[in-house]
Amino acid sequence: MARPRSAAAPAATKRATQVKSKDRATSSVTARRAVLKRIKDEGVEHVLFWFTDLEGHLKSFAITPNEMADALNDGMGFDGSSITGFNRIEESDMVAIPDPLTFEIMPRPVDDHGHALGSKVGRMICDVVKPDGTPYEGDPRYILKLALERMTKMGFDTFNVGPELEYFLFEDDKGTETIDEGGYFAMTVQDAATEVRNDTITALESVGIQIEYHHHEVAPSQHEIDMRYDNALSMADKTMTYRIVVKEVAAWHGYYATFMPKPLFGENGSGMHTHMSLFTGGRNQFFDAKDPNHLSDTAKSFIAGLLVHARELSAVLAQWVNSYKRLVPGYEAPVYVAWSQRNRSALIRIPLYKPGSEQGTRAEIRCPDPACNPYLAFAALLHAGLEGIEKGYELPPEMTTNLYRLSEEERIDQGVEALPGSLGEAIEAFAGSELLQKALGEHIFPRYVELKRTEWDEYRTQVSQWELDRYLAAL
Ligand code: GLU
Ligand code: MG
Repeated sequence: MARPRSAAAPAATKRATQVKSKDRATSSVTARRAVLKRIKDEGVEHVLFWFTDLEGHLKSFAITPNEMADALNDGMGFDGSSITGFNRIEESDMVAIPDPLTFEIMPRPVDDHGHALGSKVGRMICDVVKPDGTPYEGDPRYILKLALERMTKMGFDTFNVGPELEYFLFEDDKGTETIDEGGYFAMTVQDAATEVRNDTITALESVGIQIEYHHHEVAPSQHEIDMRYDNALSMADKTMTYRIVVKEVAAWHGYYATFMPKPLFGENGSGMHTHMSLFTGGRNQFFDAKDPNHLSDTAKSFIAGLLVHARELSAVLAQWVNSYKRLVPGYEAPVYVAWSQRNRSALIRIPLYKPGSEQGTRAEIRCPDPACNPYLAFAALLHAGLEGIEKGYELPPEMTTNLYRLSEEERIDQGVEALPGSLGEAIEAFAGSELLQKALGEHIFPRYVELKRTEWDEYRTQVSQWELDRYLAAL
């Protein structure tokens, strides 16, 4: 079995130095003590501090257990100047404050005798603050916390989220050579991919991620492992962890796992359908026994908010040029802005109500892909839904026909909008959005527009093989 590369993403900076920050109101003394005890008792050799850049890339640096006590109190300083979306050279000193409730020990591969290989590494998710201890507006985790604050002010206490990440396993990261034929729910003999998936689930569970469901997806070499829902902040942390664990375990087996939204032309892409509900005092605010669809007015306005703002949200939920190769008719991915109880071609689906499952009443949005920044994606979704509730948006009628089959004219007649067809279109819808400006804040919003416009321009000016094949000999 191949030994994995280092257990974490590339180091953000090696210039980590300790810095005093102000009060640490968020983390309890008990939780910090528990972390130190586990490090000692379990012989942890390094602790990784994780945070996320603007595009959702995991950033990490390691510290030794000796420094942990001080780091838990004061955080660790780092130079943020080369982190995408963070400040450039001026004002680039940042402090990573580890959240003691997120401490986990990273999974390791084992040799043929069952002995773990490599060092024992712990990891903690960090909040990024400025040297004066105030939250850094460029930290996506902070943006999600702000969205949750808006929710709390509106009287809800929990935004529950269940993302379904799909991914492909390829022979390596140089091409798209598949490792199985597969098919949806395919029950094949125990092939290589089944073993990788089983090891992945064990590894995910070992870092506190509860798995509910897993199966082969429609395309060859495509898989899905679903986490049990959790509150949005924990779920965004878990999503970051999920992606790195899936990649690590694939690497142990000598394969490459990718969350690229559409790696194979002519096959289904990888989505991250996201299930959502709002709770107060343990009760699901989306449920209403008297409604024919069991949806409360809160749920209806929340869904209406998602629909009204869908085109603006798109650049956050599907943030890459490649994301829009997935959002085309015919591959179970949504293209049109509509909702439905069953129809999987709609942007928003209400999973079927089962008697006694009040807590499970939820809305599922189908356009996000697993290469999004989960902190920003969940924050944007929450803001759009809350906007719907605050402004009392009305839910349009349910769309019952298969939307892929509607002609352009029928669609426009029925008032059904299409999602943006490209990153270029999406970023312009985003750039004009007051809601997203408010949601992502004055630091992130303009940087995001600039970053994504640049990406789109770079792509748009390429001359592709398709063009050469089509035009060179003919024109
Ligand atoms: N892979 C499909 C997508 O791109 C979804 C398939 C499914 O229904 O799970 O969204
Ligand atoms: Mg799926």
